Amino acid sequence: MKILALGAAGFIGSHLTHRLLKEGHIVTAVDLQSEKVAEDLDHANLTFLQQDIRSAGWDLDGLVRDADLVIDLIAYANPGLYLRIPLEVFRLNFLENLKIAEACVRHGKRLIQFSTCEVYGRTAASLQNAAVADPEDPIHATFSEDTSEYILGPVAKHRWIYSCAKQLLERVLHAYGLEHGFNYTIVRPFNFIGPKIDFLPQKEDDIPRVFSFFMDALLNGTPMKLVNGGVNRRCYTYIDDAIECTYRIVENRGGVCDRQIVNIGSPHNEVSIRQMAETMREIYAAKFRDPATPLPEIISVPGEQFYGEGYDDSDRRIPDIAKASTLLGWEPVWGICETLETTMRYYVSERRKTAASNG
Ligand code: UDP
Repeated sequence: MKILALGAAGFIGSHLTHRLLKEGHIVTAVDLQSEKVAEDLDHANLTFLQQDIRSAGWDLDGLVRDADLVIDLIAYANPGLYLRIPLEVFRLNFLENLKIAEACVRHGKRLIQFSTCEVYGRTAASLQNAAVADPEDPIHATFSEDTSEYILGPVAKHRWIYSCAKQLLERVLHAYGLEHGFNYTIVRPFNFIGPKIDFLPQKEDDIPRVFSFFMDALLNGTPMKLVNGGVNRRCYTYIDDAIECTYRIVENRGGVCDRQIVNIGSPHNEVSIRQMAETMREIYAAKFRDPATPLPEIISVPGEQFYGEGYDDSDRRIPDIAKASTLLGWEPVWGICETLETTMRYYVSERRKTAASNG
């Protein structure tokens, strides 16, 4: 297939592009920068366009017209940014993505739109005076694509602008499906993790996702910071599992993913952020530790101090993956410890390479 991959050199995009090329597809990849797809840049079937989709002078319509399938991964998908630049998060994640979707509608092209598990928001069990017998029962945190309700915080908690923008985009795609027969598949990723997830923080004000903060702390012996005690929980999904499922959505045998929303995640890999910090520190001590660097302490910091005003959080989210299993025969295979260790190994080896090249 001729595939137009937008946001192809981000974390998920770079792994997906590699897989698409390996499977023999012809890929036109668009992104702001090419660093994460460096190993594939010379591939005969890859055309890489370095382009900010917000600036004028690129031929979105022409590229969509020439493609058999469009995959849109363009997003600001990092909570630090929802707090700092909420308007830009709305513009990119809704307004700009909408232009891509509408080009697909115009040219009758199938679109795979990456969305987010953040659309589910918070659990009902986390609400004040929640009327649930056992708030710990995973049933309250297990989200299904077509039946779960969404609970977001107030407007003043601007973290939710991301969730809201993505939700609106999903609703517009659904409406185009209803009114114009538009063919899309929406993917809701649950905390994908693996090599190249984020650059480690370089400057005081860099806010990557939690893995990179913890990895940086381990490499430098500085404190691992738990926001509000690290009680919130996530299900981490190894990127190879995620790409396998995504690739089956690309293939879409029998049209099973037409106008479907699909959760991709590892329900058995749930950890609190505190457990994640402790597990990473144990793995680091056992496998990677440089004896010259002390193991970091784990400390708690208030959310608003760490992120600034407007911070709120999703407390717990477990994917219901029955749909991916039924439609695609997919189940994740990577456990949480091997997921963390393999991702950590990549960053340790990158750090050693950088140290060696700096002499
Ligand atoms: N977090 C933390 N310490 C950090 C960075 C993040 O405890 O150094 C917490 C954050 O408050 C959230 C969780 O880790 O509860 C996951 O945050 P991340 O930025 O990785 O993305 P999210 O899963 O919320 O999209």
